[in-house]
Amino acid sequence: MISRQTPETIQAALARGTVLLAKSSDSPRLDAQLLLAHVLGKEPSWLVAHAESYLARMQAERFTGLLAKRAAGTPVAHAIGMWSFYGRSFEVNESVLVPRPETEHLVEAAVAYLGRRLEAHAFTKHLFTLLDVGVGSGAIACSIAAEFPTVVVDGTDVSEDAVKVAERNARRFNVHGRCKFIVGDLTQPVSHKQYDAVIANLPYVPSADVAALRGSDPDVALDGGPDGLDHYRRLLPALPPVLKADYLVLLEAAPPTIRTLAELVHDALPDATVAIERDYGGRERYVAASRERAATR
Ligand code: GLN
Repeated sequence: MISRQTPETIQAALARGTVLLAKSSDSPRLDAQLLLAHVLGKEPSWLVAHAESYLARMQAERFTGLLAKRAAGTPVAHAIGMWSFYGRSFEVNESVLVPRPETEHLVEAAVAYLGRRLEAHAFTKHLFTLLDVGVGSGAIACSIAAEFPTVVVDGTDVSEDAVKVAERNARRFNVHGRCKFIVGDLTQPVSHKQYDAVIANLPYVPSADVAALRGSDPDVALDGGPDGLDHYRRLLPALPPVLKADYLVLLEAAPPTIRTLAELVHDALPDATVAIERDYGGRERYVAASRERAATR
């Protein structure tokens, strides 16, 4: 007689995972859900609706393997090599910052802005251009390219490995024809071009705090110098030459530094309207600067 393990339901597997991760994670149930959803190729919400369904043995084994990784301290994103951002699943690895929900606000703001501008140009063949400085996984660049078929995006990053991840994500969402990712510092590789919008989520964690951050993000994606604004201080003087006459600039930073950043933006772009915007947690998270020429009569 062939001995078989008793099949496990989704509900039972999640209960087992939650117990196993209780010591190593602050969110054991959510982590177990994300890991199991990945194994099954479904959204986490699907699990809730199928709690009584049975797992195949291979699925239960893969889940057990991922639980072991997570229990050993590997973040969920790195255990599964994927992370969800603005409704899409991005490939991530140790060379890129795992995209954070606060950055979705910048994407939302850019989508609203580009949507307005595209509507105003509905009958022209105008292509809108966007630059993502410090493109990382390509989360911002690919999300915006995927929303608008008439937007072309350039992205730069000092990390060659990050650029490779961003390129794979662009192919994943079938936007690689309109996304160009280049290895280089800030705007340096594209200093001869002009853009309708520039977005940057540069490393902004004060150097002294980098070591204390948990997770596996690379230091190069986090370290922003003594007060966290070093990269923005270098970026801002380089912005005017890469901006069109009408533009939007969105820069994410740490809440305690956002007012200083807004002042730096104001000095660098004296014609712009500058605003500080909040994230989902209500914290001041990014600076928006825009300029619109008065309509000609
Ligand atoms: N938001 C990230 C964190 O606090 C930092 C992102 C960044 O430095 N750009 O971990």
